[in-house]
Amino acid sequence: MPRRAAARPETHTALVRQARRIYRTLIAQYPYARAELDFESPLELLVATVISAQTTDVGVNKVTPVLFARYPDAAALAGADPAEMEEILRPTGFYRAKTRAVIKLSHDIVERFDGEVPGRLDDLVTLPGVGRKTANVVLGNAFGVPGITVDTHFGRLARRFGWTTSEDPVKVEAEVGALFPKKDWTMLSHVVIFHGRRICHARRPACGVCPVAQWCPSFGEGEIDADAARKLLKYELAVPKGGEAHVGLLVDGAEPDASFSTGHRGTPTVPRHSGLA
Ligand code: SF4
Repeated sequence: MPRRAAARPETHTALVRQARRIYRTLIAQYPYARAELDFESPLELLVATVISAQTTDVGVNKVTPVLFARYPDAAALAGADPAEMEEILRPTGFYRAKTRAVIKLSHDIVERFDGEVPGRLDDLVTLPGVGRKTANVVLGNAFGVPGITVDTHFGRLARRFGWTTSEDPVKVEAEVGALFPKKDWTMLSHVVIFHGRRICHARRPACGVCPVAQWCPSFGEGEIDADAARKLLKYELAVPKGGEAHVGLLVDGAEPDASFSTGHRGTPTVPRHSGLA
């Protein structure tokens, strides 16, 4: 572990170099990083993303198989009986509002896009309840179009890394995008969000076990003692089919976790994070 926080790079070139070191290290730490919502089509990912507001992806992944078995396409979702859909979505919270949002969104997809989710940012953001964040999730993961997803984790970490000072997601997206080749944007979003969920928490980042600590200008914002930091790592994911997965922590000299899959519904998903301790 470093003794003090890394200096903020003074030139754009130095910032790019430092940012890419962090990215490479996060890839090695989270080689399995992906969208944590399960889906089998752009529509499923879009709807799952809408449902994921104010709840965990794990919780969403529990209800979407039931939802999409009952309503397999946009027309079926648009014509759903609200009371019936509410019962399915109830465990995710705010289920009445989410039901209204899913039905309205699906209705627009049927009416304006012939039942197919559009594959362009400009079209996606015209759908009700779909902002740039959701659009980029869908483009990056269901259409293979590179996109930076600025959610709460990404924005926080981008500021901690010194990649931006902005709180405006659109500016964060542009400033971070300028540091990385476009082809890396989607994976960058995944690994940064994974890191934010698992180690670089909002309140008490676990700096003492952070694999990118040596390049981080915010090292020391959180717990720097390794033992105390390890106790902060509580993130859990669903246990993949096939059993328990091991998670190694690069910072301790362990192997990175390689027990993963692509994670679409019906396959084993990402590994269980059991505290990394
Ligand atoms: S956990 Fe600490 S050292 Fe690691 S990225 Fe977050 S603030 Fe920086």
